[in-house]
Amino acid sequence: MSNVRRTPMIAGNWKMNLTIAAGIELVKTIHYSHRHPGEVDVVVAPPFTAIRAVADTLNGSYISVAAQNIHWEASGAFTGEISGVFAKDAGADYVIIGHSERRQYFGETNETVNKKVKAAFGHGLVPIVCVGETDAEREAGRVHAVIKTQVEEGLAGLTQEQFGKLIIAYEPVWAIGTGKTATGEQAEEVHASIRELLVKLIGQEVAQKIRILYGGSVNAKNAKELLSFTNIDGALVGGASLKPQDFVEIIKSASA
Ligand code: PEP
Repeated sequence: MSNVRRTPMIAGNWKMNLTIAAGIELVKTIHYSHRHPGEVDVVVAPPFTAIRAVADTLNGSYISVAAQNIHWEASGAFTGEISGVFAKDAGADYVIIGHSERRQYFGETNETVNKKVKAAFGHGLVPIVCVGETDAEREAGRVHAVIKTQVEEGLAGLTQEQFGKLIIAYEPVWAIGTGKTATGEQAEEVHASIRELLVKLIGQEVAQKIRILYGGSVNAKNAKELLSFTNIDGALVGGASLKPQDFVEIIKSASA
């Protein structure tokens, strides 16, 4: 089934960066400097405060908007939290779930990831679910075990239809924001193993539809090589997504 065509996706995670004005300027620059990207889905994930303004700026363009996180409840007494209802209301169509920074600094677990993934679908958002091993886990030879647990527990109980829509991002923690990128071979090996696992969980047909993005120090120079591998269906980009020319180059690598 290697001939299945998956539209590549390039998603930019702005993290806790860019004011409303700076976010608007960034997406305008991306859009004006690359008007016809070809067959590639492009997403940007601003901080919550800029989602509305960035989504309005991008209305009618080829770029969609993601939230960086949501709470699993829809509303209520959860001071400081934002649910899928509000992310959708502000203009997001996607949401990043289980980013390693959320797991590391905010105590997210596979269980909370699972609740958030279900909440995302419940509110009409497509989840981009992050998985990945730490340096110590790789050193200990536990890459596949860690990712198997993250996938099985994080995606437990989803319907076939939901599986067919979701996006997985493989982001080795040691490669995020460090400048250390996994080689194409290293990433492809994990992506292929995730796909095999998905085949076991939900069958060939749906597993072949799921896009698996790579994330971890992707930049304008290494994107093309990484994206040339069969199971690397796009990139989740942090630092380089804040630089319009670099982000455009990465989009071009995906549509080439
Ligand atoms: C990320 O935050 O998802 C990420 C991959 O960051 P960077 O590209 O900066 O490593």
